[in-house]
Amino acid sequence: MKTALVTGANKGIGHQVARQLGSKGFHVFVGARNLENGQKATEVLRKNGAMATVIPLDVSSSESIGNAVHFVSAAADHLDVLVNNAGVILEGDNSIAQLDPETVIKTFQTNTLGPLLVTQAFLPLLSRTKNPRVINVSSGGGQLADGMDTWAPAYCLSKTALNAVTCLFAAALPNFSINSVCPGWVRTDMGGANATRSVEEGADTIVWLATEAPANLTAKFLRDRKVIAW
Ligand code: NAP
Repeated sequence: MKTALVTGANKGIGHQVARQLGSKGFHVFVGARNLENGQKATEVLRKNGAMATVIPLDVSSSESIGNAVHFVSAAADHLDVLVNNAGVILEGDNSIAQLDPETVIKTFQTNTLGPLLVTQAFLPLLSRTKNPRVINVSSGGGQLADGMDTWAPAYCLSKTALNAVTCLFAAALPNFSINSVCPGWVRTDMGGANATRSVEEGADTIVWLATEAPANLTAKFLRDRKVIAW
């Protein structure tokens, strides 16, 4: 049976990705930093007919990441797909001129270092499959091409650096498929009610990369199933 771990899968885009992978026959590991919220989200997936297991996972904690590897290893001997989805915005439309270091450090801990450490920790399980797939949920806010966005600078910096994490892992692991995705502006707690996309639309490219995309598609940044500039 194919297996997938989605971080931050208790709500928003991550939950929708977990739901779609579950309906495609994956055993889905529902990463959640709050166990109760994770259990509720896992129940929803199970009611939908999916095989789903909650995994307590705070991606900003090395200890929690280590424990999560033990939990997943106890339930599966391999991991086909890792979706590094968990993310935070801890600021408003600040200027970089006023940005405080605490905000930068905390944002990087979850959005950049989190995916890096989670990927490292799950490499042994991922390496047991023929074509492991890692999808880093990034943002157009991290795009350097055509001038950087200036809203939420700590968040945008963290996603630029996450894209670099994608490139470095892809270069180091040539038999893996490792890509970054911009889901677009999505109606979630993070995106807000005015966002232009549904969670189904936001999840689409992520699920496609996890399942149907060519196995040799790697080291790319995608939106709407198409490669975009870094
Ligand atoms: P969301 O609804 O706020 O969900 C974020 C998820 O990440 C929640 O499950 C949250 O858990 C989890 N999370 C946060 N910090 C965590 C940590 N340290 N460890 C584990 N889980 C943690 O946001 P979303 O819109 O679905 O965002 C998902 C991803 O898409 C993020 O990486 C975001 O940057 C990216 N993205 C979103 C948009 C958009 O318009 N929505 C656009 C571009 C990119 P709790 O419930 O416990 O807080």
